[in-house]
Amino acid sequence: MKIETIAVRAGHRIDPGTRAVTTPIHMSTTFERDGDGSYPGGYVYSRGGNPNREALENCLAELEGGAAAAAFASGSAAAMSVLQALSPGDHVIAPEDVYCGTAHLLRDTFVPWGLQVSFVDMTDTENVERAVQPNTRLVWVETPSNPLLRITDITRVADIAHRAGVLCACDNTLPSPVLQRPFAHGADLVVHSTTKYLGGHGDVLGGAVIAKRDDAFFQKIRKIQKDGGAVPSPFECWLVLRGIRTLPYRMRAHAENAMHVAAFLSSHPKVESVHYPGLKDHPGHEVAARQMDFFGGIISFQLKGGKKKALAVAAKARLFVRATSLGGPISLIEHRASYEGPGTMAPDNLLRLSIGLEHPDDLIADLAHALA
Ligand SMILES: *Cc1c(COP(=O)(O)O)cnc(C)c1O
Repeated sequence: MKIETIAVRAGHRIDPGTRAVTTPIHMSTTFERDGDGSYPGGYVYSRGGNPNREALENCLAELEGGAAAAAFASGSAAAMSVLQALSPGDHVIAPEDVYCGTAHLLRDTFVPWGLQVSFVDMTDTENVERAVQPNTRLVWVETPSNPLLRITDITRVADIAHRAGVLCACDNTLPSPVLQRPFAHGADLVVHSTTKYLGGHGDVLGGAVIAKRDDAFFQKIRKIQKDGGAVPSPFECWLVLRGIRTLPYRMRAHAENAMHVAAFLSSHPKVESVHYPGLKDHPGHEVAARQMDFFGGIISFQLKGGKKKALAVAAKARLFVRATSLGGPISLIEHRASYEGPGTMAPDNLLRLSIGLEHPDDLIADLAHALA
């Protein structure tokens, strides 16, 4: 089936009790046993599983073309569960510009716990090859990266990982499964912050790990999900699933709007550079065109004149809202370096845009005013 159909129907069933067409929200934390001690509904206690989480997980697995999925309370909790499934002494290779929250987890929580980490520039896959050690267990990919919009060749990195006998995980938050399906390029695990495009409305926090194979490593992640309990509530699962129903149509609009805005910024005299993989002069354009269906809704750009100028442009915006996060209907503008703080790879004159679902003419007019 096509992704539009999967997005609308996966995880859906008519409620057997009420015949409700839209899946009800099952807030009950516990489920009744039969007289013989069995659980005829298939559910025991909501931390272990509930109908809304199961519906969301089935939908996510189908969207990515995976075998199984585990939903979490945030994207960071999802990333953490993958790292917790490793063992102290294991080595991880991650992009040097990996999402700042993932970098913090690796550096501040998992290195003290016993993981070893190499941060490399993955735009050149030879750096990945050189970083492989005998104790390497996982290569973490994130493409396009955030906020530099660097592109990593998933096929090549997955190939390097597999030749070394290790797993390749891909943070697919920025493109969403509509624009990029990492399993088709060799990845073993996909990680999402469903807070972003999957939820899609800026009103729910969530995360997920999707596995290509329901193997022993994924069962470890599943056990961490159930034992650790960093799970989304039934209502949050319901909200994310509701968001997913329109994901393919939203992603197309985000990407189309972003293309217009990126073209406008590229020709503006006050803009030093634009980072958007849809632009022909982007260094990752060719790889992005190969592994993505469209180029996504996130743009970053650097201003002539440094940090002061960047902050001044953000301050003058009227339609773009000054806030972090991405993937919702409302367009956001963010001075990324001051959000990420010390150690950031975001230049001081960089602004990140999450292009929403407003009309692109209005977005461009707002940026023209802010840049004037
Ligand atoms: C937001 C984000 C995360 C973290 O997700 P949360 O839901 O905020 O915990 C991870 N990776 C990327 C690429 C993100 O944008």
